[in-house]
Amino acid sequence: MISLNFLNSFGRKLELFNPIKAGKVGIYSCGPTVYGRAHIGNFRAFITADLIRRLLEAVGYEVNQVMNITDVGHLVGDGSVGEDKVLLAAQASGKTALDITEHFTNIFFADSIALNILPAHHYPRATNHIKEQIEIIIALEKNNYTYKITDGIYFDTSKYPAYGELSGQDQSEKLSGARVETGDKKNPADFALWKFSPVSDQEATPTGTQAIALKREMEWDSPWGIGFPGWHIECSAMSAKYLGVPFDIHTGGADHVAVHHENELAQTGAATGLRLANLWIHNEFLLIDGGKMSKSLNNTYTLSDLAQHNISPLAFRYLLLNAHYRSQLNFTFESAQASQTTLTKIQTQVTTWKNEVGGPVNYQTHPLWLKFMSELANDLNTAAALAVFHQVPKSDLTTSAKLELWLAMDSILGLNLAALTSNNTNLANQVNSESGQITIPAQITALATARANARAAGDYVTADQHRATLTQAGYEVIDNPDGSYALKLNAI
Ligand SMILES: [Zn+2]
Repeated sequence: MISLNFLNSFGRKLELFNPIKAGKVGIYSCGPTVYGRAHIGNFRAFITADLIRRLLEAVGYEVNQVMNITDVGHLVGDGSVGEDKVLLAAQASGKTALDITEHFTNIFFADSIALNILPAHHYPRATNHIKEQIEIIIALEKNNYTYKITDGIYFDTSKYPAYGELSGQDQSEKLSGARVETGDKKNPADFALWKFSPVSDQEATPTGTQAIALKREMEWDSPWGIGFPGWHIECSAMSAKYLGVPFDIHTGGADHVAVHHENELAQTGAATGLRLANLWIHNEFLLIDGGKMSKSLNNTYTLSDLAQHNISPLAFRYLLLNAHYRSQLNFTFESAQASQTTLTKIQTQVTTWKNEVGGPVNYQTHPLWLKFMSELANDLNTAAALAVFHQVPKSDLTTSAKLELWLAMDSILGLNLAALTSNNTNLANQVNSESGQITIPAQITALATARANARAAGDYVTADQHRATLTQAGYEVIDNPDGSYALKLNAI
């Protein structure tokens, strides 16, 4: 098996990857908060995780990937104070919180398919794992790491000497971690484990009684009173449930290092005495036109914005491959357009090659394949690997070998070139090689359900969009006269 090296954010060193169990890898990737559509900056993180997973699979590991769906409101992101974004989105649209989170979860799945992101093996939802979150808080309470103030139960970072170990930040220099006023907190970095529901109208948001009614829609009983979990605890709880502690690889955006991942590490460390994950991989930010991406600048672009500029999801994926995941990448519509042009050329080349007669090929020992893999094995250097990819058409290989080599490289790059050939192999991972059974990924069934719901509600525009995405992913939807439907896998 090829040795892989990654820069571990924990310790800031390039390390040889060494799994806990031989041949197997557990990956936890911090997923979307589903109060809105994920933007292209979010997708840089999800595509980075997908590339890591594909590389591990290509060298022979059996991967178990878990991505959480944050479907309870949290105090995240752009400076908002004390707002539950899921509930605010629900209130603004006159829908229930569940409507909102289901809707945006399905859109997230659809976007992921369009970007050719392999489905994770588990997509645990925070609201389905309240019990597991409460159990960790009970363990933390028992170990004396918690204290109670008016709005919730908090983690006392001063009692956990290792706090700051991931980001290397000194606690005394650290600003308030949670997005609440330091107020009654003992230390600025202390963070909420359990938040209490507001007890009266006055203590809720200034927007009035409707907001309070909605707020009570997402609350649970706990040993400390009715309320809801803090954001960080869900990742400690769900990663442990599906992967065990410690697990191999934790991925996320660089914005998670200083607060969210530091807090995940502290919670699990204080509750169990174990380091949550061995290898921490963080991707850098996507800049927009050389600056920050933010709601106030109106540049939190989604795949819809790209589509309006005739930039396909896979062209965006191609754009990302041009930069190392640990470098900031500047997105402009001009650079994305250039990626679209190059991707179209690649696709045209594949369709030309596939019409030529091929014989048996053996590219695995070819220097270009070895070089391609060695670039990726060096901390996922996609930019260098892409340069090798572009040398293939000019190489001494036969046409069929060139095509096979590109398809093999693309099993990691993920531009879905196999879909352009008759020997479609991109669905291979859905087929159990022993039983021959086809597993329809959760993303696909969720999208098919969303399509059926949209159709039943008379929203044919959304229904058709979902059908198009399903078709792109290789599935045909067959509507039965009685209103039921069937999914047919086209490519097999
Ligand atoms: Zn997380």
